[in-house]
Parts: sequence; structure tokens; C-alpha cells
Amino acid sequence: MVKKAKLPPICTYCGKFARPMTRDDPFPKALWAGKSADRVIRVPSCGPCNRRSNESILKHFFVVLDSRFYPEIIRHFKDPDGRKDFQDFSSAWKEKNGKWYLYADAEVTAKFVKMFMGIRRHLLREKWYYVPAEGFTILKIDPVDDLHEGRVLPLRVGGRNPSRTFEPDINAALKEPMRHKFRDFRYDWFADDDDGMVFGLKYEREEFAHLGNRLFLICAVPKSVQGKVAASET
Ligand SMILES: [Zn+2]
Repeated sequence: MVKKAKLPPICTYCGKFARPMTRDDPFPKALWAGKSADRVIRVPSCGPCNRRSNESILKHFFVVLDSRFYPEIIRHFKDPDGRKDFQDFSSAWKEKNGKWYLYADAEVTAKFVKMFMGIRRHLLREKWYYVPAEGFTILKIDPVDDLHEGRVLPLRVGGRNPSRTFEPDINAALKEPMRHKFRDFRYDWFADDDDGMVFGLKYEREEFAHLGNRLFLICAVPKSVQGKVAASET
């Protein structure tokens, strides 16, 4: 008998064999504020994909969602090394009718896609197969009265970002609490049919709830039969 050589797992992010195999945090460590007893979630990643992620961009975005990030970020922006980051951060803001808004631009969107790639792998476990980043469509959800509006990311900073509405059953599903939790993140999946799967991600803290500062994203991933790659190990 010939012993079958054990293949390394597929990288969650690029779909190639993860050589060297590393473990990546779908919820980046940069976003772990405060203490938590939650079990650490990790997914297989190749070394380059794991190292490539510049999570400071995401962290700066989270400043409107969690004040625990303030001190470190303000210190960073004041530092000469943080000047470029501060310019990038400033360019994602726009004033509209006397209020300032922070937009999830292309750079931040790419980070959210990466998060959803990791969350999807974690939730699907051995049923997981690789779908490239281009297959992930993220919508920002805003509750409006009793319904929801969705806007496809990335948003145009200060531009017109047309919204779409949802069928009653989707509106109802969006109101359901998400079943999974990691620190201040909630996540879940809503649909799994021939069109694909829909995942949800929320980050909402009491301190900002009254300002309407909340992260509520859903992500649609098509069923890709073509180029389906099975996870050899998770
Ligand atoms: Zn990779």
C-alpha cells in the first residue's frame, strides 16, 4: 500500500495550498478591545496572506464604533509615522447637512471581504470550499423605520450611494438576532440556497447606539461549482 501524502490545507484567502501553514484570526487582533473569555477563532492561511493584512485601516474605521480604540489611534495620528494613515482616514469623511459621515471606502471594504472569507470558512467547517474575494458582495444595512436599506460597498465618499430595499422575508430575517458571537462582534448566516449563501456581521455598542453608529453588514457569496476546491483539513 502506498501511503497518501498529506496535503496542506487550502489558504482561506488565496485558495492555494497554505505553505507555510499559518492560522489567521478572521476577527483581527487589532479589533480585540478589552478582555474577553471567548474562544479564539482561527482559520488556515498561507504565510503571505496572513502577513499581507494591514489591519490598522480597519481599526481606524472602528473608532466611530468603539471608544476603547481612541487613545491608541489618536497617539498614532499625532505621531509623524501616522501622518499618512491620518490623511487616508480623513479622506474617508465627508460633511452632509452639517453632519460628518465616515464612509466604508474601497480599502476598508477589502478588509471586510477578508473578514467574511474567514467567517465563512469558520462557519462552513468541513463543507467549506474556496470562493475568491471577487465573489463576495457586501451590503451595508441601515434600519429605516421598520424596514432596512442596503448599500453595496465600497461607498463613494460623499457621493450618491443608491440604496435598495428588501423583500418582506429578508426584512424579517435581518431583524433576527445573530446566533454567533466573538467579543463585540455578532455573526451568522441567513440563507443557503441555489443562489448562494448570505452572511451577516454586526458590531454595535451601547455607547454609540444613540448616534446610530453601528456596523451591520451582510455578504452574499454565490454557489460556485466551477473551481470548487475542497478543504483538505480545517
Ligand atoms: Zn494565501
